[in-house]
This record gives sequence, structure tokens and C-alpha cells, in this order.
Amino acid sequence: MQRRKYKIKCPFCGYEMSNIQYEKGAVISKVFTKCKNSKCKKEFEIKLN
Ligand SMILES: [Zn+2]
Repeated sequence: MQRRKYKIKCPFCGYEMSNIQYEKGAVISKVFTKCKNSKCKKEFEIKLN
């Protein structure tokens, strides 16, 4: 199965996370993740097109 890497930026602190992986082919429109910045740690939504 193919995997795609996404670079996402936390909307709260601007912290960049580049190691987010999702399986390609799966119908994912909304994904929630937690900021990896230890000073932030907020949950936010990632929108994939
Ligand atoms: Zn953050």
C-alpha cells in the first residue's frame, strides 16, 4: 500500500510536523492530530484534499 507524507503546520504555534503519514486510497477528509510542540500540545484538524 502506498503511503504519503504530509507536512503540516500547527495553526496555534506554527510548529512544523513533517512525519505525518496517511494511507493513500483511504477516504480521509478530516484528521485530528496533536501538536508535537511540548509547549503547545493542542489538538487541531488537518484537512486533506
Ligand atoms: Zn502547536
